[in-house]
Amino acid sequence: MVKICCIGAGYVGGPTMAVIALNCPSIEVAVVDISVSRISAWNGDQLPIYEPGLDEVVKQCRGKNLFFSTNVEKHVSEADIIFVSVNTPTKTRGLGAGKAADLTYWESAARMIADVSKSNKIVVEKSTVPVKTAEAIERILTHNSKGIKYQILSNPEFLAEGTAIQDLFNPDRVLIGGRETPEGFKAIQALKDIYAHWVPEDRIITTNLWSAELSKLAANAFLAQRISSVNAMSALCEATGADVSQVSHAVGKDSRIGPKFLNASVGFGGSCFQKDILNLVYICECNGLPEVANYWKQVIKVNDYQKNRFVNRVVSSMFNTVSGKKIAILGFAFKKDTGDTRETPAIDVCKGLLGDKARLSIYDPQVTEDQIQRDLAMNKFDWDHPIHLQPMSPTTVKQVSVAWDAYAATKDAHALCILTEWDEFKTLDYERIFDNMQKPAFVFDGRNVVNAETLREIGFIVYSIGKPLDPWVKNMPAVA
Ligand code: NAD
Repeated sequence: MVKICCIGAGYVGGPTMAVIALNCPSIEVAVVDISVSRISAWNGDQLPIYEPGLDEVVKQCRGKNLFFSTNVEKHVSEADIIFVSVNTPTKTRGLGAGKAADLTYWESAARMIADVSKSNKIVVEKSTVPVKTAEAIERILTHNSKGIKYQILSNPEFLAEGTAIQDLFNPDRVLIGGRETPEGFKAIQALKDIYAHWVPEDRIITTNLWSAELSKLAANAFLAQRISSVNAMSALCEATGADVSQVSHAVGKDSRIGPKFLNASVGFGGSCFQKDILNLVYICECNGLPEVANYWKQVIKVNDYQKNRFVNRVVSSMFNTVSGKKIAILGFAFKKDTGDTRETPAIDVCKGLLGDKARLSIYDPQVTEDQIQRDLAMNKFDWDHPIHLQPMSPTTVKQVSVAWDAYAATKDAHALCILTEWDEFKTLDYERIFDNMQKPAFVFDGRNVVNAETLREIGFIVYSIGKPLDPWVKNMPAVA
């Protein structure tokens, strides 16, 4: 029986391994992590992450050929194939701070593999890493190898949170990069054989190691660039009276462009886009390519601009001050169908409004109060100017409350901001919400989920990203 061990039981390691276990009953899969609370959650009824369809997959194979454990060394030493799916955040200190990937977790996983292994291993990079990481990992592994042979593969993960299970069952492609040597090809084939249990062969792409590592960064950069492109257009739409949904539709009909990923919004978030682009920027700079670095940096600058623009719209529309006003925040996760708040635009929007002394009442169907308070209290790392901004003061913390539903959040509020596109926000009883709000009642739709005309008929003043402006909003000078 082939044994797989995955180091890192997070948003990638957990779902990816559960889908492998379900599709390959003859393979034993152990997912290990140093976090005791995460592993107990994976072994309990309330999984540590929310992802549609995940519960069913885990329940079908947990205890049969899928195991979650904190006994990292035991499972690593017994495995034939080791996936490394640890976090690779942006470095916050030292050389490359604010841009480069922090490979501390990766390095410690690699050292541990080298220490405990007693047989040959295939080590798979599942985490997103800088190009050439495999070379460094190889050095760590072979430095003290005691005759053990390692083959390093790059197998970046392309799942999107919120649709992870669907993406894993039916991937657009599986990418496997390896050394172009007989042993390298053999290792690639071994991993290919696993995916071939359910992925059609023509969707399994094999490349050299560096192409696989770079393709993941490139894919995220292209995706984020599309969002920043449409968001940049949304500002121009507001200035000219064009409607960004109509423009996106017309542009997306071109088969060379395609219709997906063209929705204007308050900005992209999530743990990957910003971090991976910063990493790409850093790699370009290190390779003496400042023009290429600046090109990609602009994708993040437009994203920051879009979040600032949104806050400015809110403040300027509300008589240039939100001080002491209650503002309901609907949605805090970085996208719908996930509870993940890493780099969510909601953090920046909330901090912007708190900076103007607003009182916030926040509701998200999947994010806990603890998480929201933690996120808002956290230092924000300003990547362009590597300084730590001040954390929230105790008085600011008092300006934030968390509500149990959208009606409680909006009661007596002056405005509501929709920051995540949760389906339930489309079908709220907006007449009831309007009746319970202060007047004039404002809606700032950062995801274009509500029908602005219907809401205007109820009496709301509505701002939708990239849409022709409400006369009220238009006549207030925007501080963009
Ligand atoms: P995560 O933070 O949810 O999970 C990482 C886990 O690794 C944590 O539970 C942590 O405790 C564990 N860990 C760290 N060091 C360890 C060690 N030495 N031994 C054992 N466990 C250790 O991160 P994630 O979102 O799953 O992302 C993992 C990687 O996958 C990152 O490189 C990320 O860029 C990449 N990725 C993420 C996504 C996504 O949508 N989240 C998609 C594709 C790729």
